[in-house]
Amino acid sequence: MDASKWKLLPQNEVDARSEDIEEDDEETDFQCAMVETQTTIPQEQPIKPKKVRKWTVHPGRNRFCCQGKLVCSKKHGAFLLTVFIMSTTMTLFFVFDAPFLWSKNPSIPIIAALLSIFVIANFIVTSFTDPGILPRAGNFEIIEMDKQLAATQPEQVANRPRTKEIEINGEKMRVKYCTSCRMFRPPRASHCAVCDNCVLMFDHHCPWVGNCIGLRNYAYFYRFVVSLSILIVYLFTSSIVHICLSANGRPFMEVVRDYPMSVVVAVVCFFSIWSLIGLTFFHSYLLFTNQTTNEDLKGTFRKKNRNAENLVKNPFSRGYLKNMCHRMFKSTFPSVLDADGFVNDNITVIVPKTFEKQTGQDSNIQQLDPTFA
Ligand SMILES: [Zn+2]
Ligand SMILES: [Zn+2]
Repeated sequence: MDASKWKLLPQNEVDARSEDIEEDDEETDFQCAMVETQTTIPQEQPIKPKKVRKWTVHPGRNRFCCQGKLVCSKKHGAFLLTVFIMSTTMTLFFVFDAPFLWSKNPSIPIIAALLSIFVIANFIVTSFTDPGILPRAGNFEIIEMDKQLAATQPEQVANRPRTKEIEINGEKMRVKYCTSCRMFRPPRASHCAVCDNCVLMFDHHCPWVGNCIGLRNYAYFYRFVVSLSILIVYLFTSSIVHICLSANGRPFMEVVRDYPMSVVVAVVCFFSIWSLIGLTFFHSYLLFTNQTTNEDLKGTFRKKNRNAENLVKNPFSRGYLKNMCHRMFKSTFPSVLDADGFVNDNITVIVPKTFEKQTGQDSNIQQLDPTFA
């Protein structure tokens, strides 16, 4: 059909020519076109709100896997290097040293295998566990905070304070307001510059495991560091034993040529051992004194600073043994990030009674628009 023949006609003219149109195929197409323009638009169906997982809208620099159940940092260069060095060293040992040692005493490679499994398990859990990330305050929480401030310190409303003094076990401490997360950080929490989150009991950001170390994964991190130190010493000793027993008095360079992979294992372990042993002792000291790396570096609880302004003795310390047991064996603190949960679409804010009296509000519950969150 030639489109150039088409033209739009008023409705009365269409009706008048309808009989002629019915007999002509080309004109029938035209009528259909005219009829279509007059059909009523179907009524819009109500759109169901789509449920959104919290991890998909998380503003920090984190990578989530398995529907938000696993979390790690987006920067993973050093993490991949750790995986490469660990896997290469272990593979070389079990391929080139373990068969010889098995022939002498099967328990030697079995102990190495069990230690390796323990190290890998703790490494994976440390790397992919939520360290204690605090979700950022939504707009409704900011409104709530301002209401509480208006009720308790009305003179401060215009100029919101950046620090707050609190008392823990008789010691006065200051908590700071985090402008990125828009909230007062809980005691011992700090903002990780790499991941861009506030983390509960923040220890440090470890690029080698590709995650922050905090309240929820410190125990796994400590086990990883200690077990890796033991494994490195064990692999170094075993590979040296293999080389010495195979030498049979031959010159050193000849033995190196015959067992190059055993030498590689021994050299890698030798250079890794010192930093790992140092790290083990440092974290053992922190564990027994109930401090974090962050607190130790800032000197928060240092003895000589106890009487200085803003510095206090450690109110969290319970004694060396209790400190260690509390951090290593207490059940894991639940994740407050709740990354695999859904974003709330109906938020309830509880207004404190004190504020209610001042403002004369008769209800203590307000429903906020979901777009506030
Ligand atoms: Zn923060
Ligand atoms: Zn971090």
